[in-house]
Amino acid sequence: MGTQEAEKIPLAWRAPLAVAAPPPPPPAKDKSCAVRMSAHDYERLGILAVKSCVSRQQLLKDALAQFLADKARDYGCACLGACNRDCAPGG
Ligand SMILES: [Zn+2]
Repeated sequence: MGTQEAEKIPLAWRAPLAVAAPPPPPPAKDKSCAVRMSAHDYERLGILAVKSCVSRQQLLKDALAQFLADKARDYGCACLGACNRDCAPGG
């Protein structure tokens, strides 16, 4: 609104307009999914983690990414068929 219009409005009514707009919603956060495994696998994962200089968490994330990439190839679609295959291949 123009300056003249703002001056016609009583201060009590103008004040709320000065409040900043609410912040945009935060981006979607990563989700968590705990995985139970045998002590043997846990130990082996730890050995690999040390050898690779990454965390167990990172190794599992890499394994999941590989698994999902393979499945996407099987289904011919990154949505694994949920889109009826009309999305871009691999995308
Ligand atoms: Zn798709």
